[in-house]
Amino acid sequence: MPLYEYRCPDCGHEFEMMLRFSESNKIPACPRCEGIRTQKKLSTVATFANSGSGYQSTGSSCASSGGFS
Ligand SMILES: [Zn+2]
Repeated sequence: MPLYEYRCPDCGHEFEMMLRFSESNKIPACPRCEGIRTQKKLSTVATFANSGSGYQSTGSSCASSGGFS
């Protein structure tokens, strides 16, 4: 499910929400002030994909060393 980022113009609160594609045109109410003028931030998807720096699997040590006797 894609992660969407929203911003509430009433209180300035920013929050993220996971929505199904079928629900992606819905605008959730602000969890802080319950305002319904929430605006979707569209640039989220690209930033979300690029923010994975530092996440590296450095060689899994799953290989059993001499487990068989
Ligand atoms: Zn708000």
